[in-house]
Amino acid sequence: MREPLIARMREFGTTVFAEMTALAVRTGSINLGQGFPDTDGPPGMLARAVEAIGGGFNQYPPGPGVPALREAVAWHRKEHYGLDYDPDGEVLVTVGATEAVATSVLALCEPGDEVIVFEPFYDSYAAAISLAGAVRKAVTLRPDAGRFAFDPDELRAAVGPRTRAILVNSPHNPTGTVFTRAELSAIAEVCREHDLIAISDEVYEHLTFDGVEHIPIATLPGMRERTVMISSAGKTFSVTGWKTGWICAPPALTSAVQTVKQFVTFTAGAPWQLAVAHALRHEQPWVADLRLALQGKRDRLMTGLAAAGFEVLRPSGTYFVQTDIRPLGFTDGLALTRELPSLAGVVAIPTQVFYDRPERGRHFVRFAFCKRDEIIEEAAARLATLGEAARGER
Ligand SMILES: *Cc1c(COP(=O)(O)O)cnc(C)c1O
Repeated sequence: MREPLIARMREFGTTVFAEMTALAVRTGSINLGQGFPDTDGPPGMLARAVEAIGGGFNQYPPGPGVPALREAVAWHRKEHYGLDYDPDGEVLVTVGATEAVATSVLALCEPGDEVIVFEPFYDSYAAAISLAGAVRKAVTLRPDAGRFAFDPDELRAAVGPRTRAILVNSPHNPTGTVFTRAELSAIAEVCREHDLIAISDEVYEHLTFDGVEHIPIATLPGMRERTVMISSAGKTFSVTGWKTGWICAPPALTSAVQTVKQFVTFTAGAPWQLAVAHALRHEQPWVADLRLALQGKRDRLMTGLAAAGFEVLRPSGTYFVQTDIRPLGFTDGLALTRELPSLAGVVAIPTQVFYDRPERGRHFVRFAFCKRDEIIEEAAARLATLGEAARGER
């Protein structure tokens, strides 16, 4: 038989997340690899989902999404960002941000079109671009004054005649960078000058620290009309298993994405939509508490990692902290993360897997801090011996 998997998807075998999670289970290690919280979302929102199911809200909702959720999304955009989106025609509910990204790329990019991504990038971007038969062009984020940043000249140089879109992700997974207004302006300028679409993954929009504000790129001059803004309840309300996301975009872009989406999933789960509609309007205080709690967890883990001997890069948002492993005497993050369970009983993710040019991320390892404080403390305690273990090994 012919090789079953189509050629353009063959580079996407089993993800490193599956490998590392299996490793954590097999070795009984603390899993700071995959980024999902180990506590629940707001009780009021969870109760709404139960009510919706008990109340018979269990059949296909409308393709674009339940009206109550589309209205809540529009209200929330206006309230937080001053952006006006029409719930009828400019909001589309999706099966998480993952479907939003994939269907946006599939709907908007012809085979051979180029999509610019910032590496290290979220793993689903590369697969979505390949599925569309499009070509990714990576611009590298490099540590600069303690945070990951890009060189605007490198961004401009990445644009060619076939460039169709820039996939923006701020707050950025896996680096924790929150793009500044100047950085977003540089991206926006390139989009306007070359008539590009910004596909903007903003799932960590509310999870920023130290008073750093998330700025949606759609709020920049000339950008609302060319931006597909993507959000998800998963990260905002700690329900990654609900897979409820949405896009906000002008009618022509929304309609294009909906045309593809209706044949991928048609619609998204009904009860979660009612519950998330409630949460967007009424659970912002809970989200503010989550943000503060996460900031504390970040600080706790950063302290532990620094004490263990890593160089720690301070994230301004997301669930993740990046470390440079070279001060500990290691050079390859993949080798280290495979050894880390036996060295310290902790699992992490080698950042190099998020690059087109892995050598640029060889010495970085990503740790997730969206875990209960006692888990982070225990991980820190285990990692404290890593320096000694590493020296002993050599
Ligand atoms: C978690 C995550 C997603 C996926 O969101 P879902 O709503 O679970 O599909 C998308 N983008 C980034 C950057 C993420 O970290």
